[in-house]
Amino acid sequence: MFSKNIFSRYFTSIRQIAAFSILAGILAALLIGGITSLTLHSKREASYDMLTQDIRDYLSRFFNELQSTTSSIQPLTLSDCHQVAGELTSRAAFNANVRAFVLVRNGEAYCSSATGSMLMDMHQIVPDIDLNQSVDIDILHGTPMMPGKPTVTAWFKNPVIAGRGVFATLNVDLTPYLLFSTRQSDLVSMAIIVGNKALTTQSNNVMNVSELPTHPTRIITLQNYPIKLALYGETWPAEDIQISILTGLVFGILSSALCAWLLTVRLRSGKEILTGIKRGQFSVVYQPVVNAKELKMSGVEVLMRWNHPIAGPIPPDAFIAFAEAQQLIVPLTRHLFELIARDAKKLQHVLPPGARLGINLAPSHLHSPTFKEDIQAFAASMPPHHFQLIFEITERDMVKENEASCLFTWMHEQGYEIAVDDFGTGHSALIYLERFKLDYLKIDRGFVNSIGFETVTSPVLDAVLTLARKLSMTTVAEGVETREQAKWLIDQGVNYLQGYYFSRPLTFEQLQEWEGQQKEYQELT
Ligand code: C2E
Ligand code: CA
Ligand code: CA
Repeated sequence: MFSKNIFSRYFTSIRQIAAFSILAGILAALLIGGITSLTLHSKREASYDMLTQDIRDYLSRFFNELQSTTSSIQPLTLSDCHQVAGELTSRAAFNANVRAFVLVRNGEAYCSSATGSMLMDMHQIVPDIDLNQSVDIDILHGTPMMPGKPTVTAWFKNPVIAGRGVFATLNVDLTPYLLFSTRQSDLVSMAIIVGNKALTTQSNNVMNVSELPTHPTRIITLQNYPIKLALYGETWPAEDIQISILTGLVFGILSSALCAWLLTVRLRSGKEILTGIKRGQFSVVYQPVVNAKELKMSGVEVLMRWNHPIAGPIPPDAFIAFAEAQQLIVPLTRHLFELIARDAKKLQHVLPPGARLGINLAPSHLHSPTFKEDIQAFAASMPPHHFQLIFEITERDMVKENEASCLFTWMHEQGYEIAVDDFGTGHSALIYLERFKLDYLKIDRGFVNSIGFETVTSPVLDAVLTLARKLSMTTVAEGVETREQAKWLIDQGVNYLQGYYFSRPLTFEQLQEWEGQQKEYQELT
């Protein structure tokens, strides 16, 4: 029975709730963890982009300034060393980025800001520098003054006089770059690359480009200078992954706990039903029952509806079983009685005196200690002497034989009638029909369904009808959907008919309208 309910259909056991909650937690963890790591990653990429731009700007400024300084030194190449050595030395001394300036004439270095007059073949000092280029750059393992200290050197050709130019050795220790990098804690190293030589923050020696890590995070190039700067950093650092995992884990656990709480505390405790009652989510509809002789409405069956704000309309089969499992059938049936009583005044004008009002009773209510009290209170809340109340009970409810016998006698004494609902679907109930005095047999719609177009009906239906006649019980056929079914049932002497062929269950307003324009059903006579 519990398996029928809308919630427990999916969550029948604690283990299932746990499994579902864990799954929800894992999904939430993956989702939130993934989003966090992607966010951190894109933030990091953006900060690498900014750093790249800053370093490019710094390097451009550095070389542009160097070029303008050397431009102002170019005229000194017209003079001999002893005439300009002092000037050259002071130029170098005032330029923090320059170790030494060297004047060059016809491929020979002839004057140095550091050592004064000299004569040395430029090919010997910097074999890789092309003196025909207007600007060229190279990396050296050291200079004569500082042999073990690698340096970047730059050549600037004199644009006016052929064969002359200025050569500069630079103070490059990557300090300014590292200063930049302090903003970017995940930067592992940097390398200045010229041709196939590289100076890195990792080593004090000149390296070959092939020795560098293969995938730099960013490469910075300069437009007019043959020099590159490579940045090596982590795009997925362990720290980010840890933060993502931690965030995912926290959210996963929270979602899992929330899910478990919702499923166990809220749904399984039956709070939903009590809340539904309080918030007016339940309503009733009425399905007309038609007299087979006059083909006129003789009464209605009251059916309950639950319009759940999240789950939508929940079928009564589901919520009745749920309410029974939660021991909430008594409050729910009392609420049903309230809803009927609320409509009763208006209902009097639609249904004639003596009209039958069929009300379904849940099996567990029948045997509850407050049953008689509840019924009496309900009857008292209805307009006196107008409706004939019929309580519909399924065969299953008659198994507690003694109790049922007493109850049925009491109900008859009070003037209520009893209908056996869904007749034919229960087990071993036939014997009770003889013992109890019951007023109506409602033939289950499963049998009515078997009445096909121009076909003979099922032997069970035949047997049920014969039995009803023998016990002289009034019969009601449920679930009549076609003209053929209605006609066949009338021919077989069934007393009342109910089903979509006549009308679906209707709200009070719809019932009023339906009653006003009731059809003649000539096709059935
Ligand atoms: P039931 O007592 O057998 O009620 C008849 C059911 O058959 C209703 O379903 C009705 O809408 C449906 N029906 C009527 N005519 C036709 C037809 O021609 N074709 C088809 N296919 N169906 C038709 P509903 O309203 O979904 O109710 C289902 C069951 O839930 C009821 O079966 C009854 O056992 C229970 N129920 C409904 N309202 C209440 C209530 O207020 N209290 C209790 N305890 N049970 C209720
Ligand atoms: Ca019924
Ligand atoms: Ca039924």
